Amino acid sequence: MAALLRHTGCVALQLAVRQSGMTRKAPGLRFSLSAAALAASGNKNSFPVVFPQQELRKRLTPMQYHVTQERGTERAFTGGFADHKEKGTYTCVVCDAPLFQSDTKFDSGSGWPSFFDLIKEESVTVTDDFSYGMHRLETSCSQCGSHLGHLFDDGPPPTGKRYCINSASLAFHKQGAAGGTKGGRGG
Ligand SMILES: [Zn+2]
Repeated sequence: MAALLRHTGCVALQLAVRQSGMTRKAPGLRFSLSAAALAASGNKNSFPVVFPQQELRKRLTPMQYHVTQERGTERAFTGGFADHKEKGTYTCVVCDAPLFQSDTKFDSGSGWPSFFDLIKEESVTVTDDFSYGMHRLETSCSQCGSHLGHLFDDGPPPTGKRYCINSASLAFHKQGAAGGTKGGRGG
């Protein structure tokens, strides 16, 4: 399957798209490595922050590990943040990079936390995902490479985007409070 995908040139296509929007140094090299690595082995060494897998297995719940490191998906309506409405910031559960603000969260009815925008465009990396016989856009944390969820184009205005994110990939920092809450339980 991986070999077949490589032959379709999907990585090259994605690079062309990425390069038009990104001006970082050698973006082609970086994205080609990360896309190939993610598809092939889950190796995340091309991301700026790398955590030893052993540490992550201890620190994360099994569901958080499965979703972020093995590109898993929690069952709909089981994650701690699907219905979460507090004001604050959602961060990557692995590296704590800020990803989403509560005021861009909306009720999509999907059973997964859904956001129509990012805090910073570059905080999430979007790559092609051809698993399960579908073409979807996978979203990953740009800092540590953790799998977050998928991006769809059926979101509400003003962006029309729907970032469909696993609760298990997220931590939450309540507005004006120190410390965070992790949403990976219940999956
Ligand atoms: Zn991260």
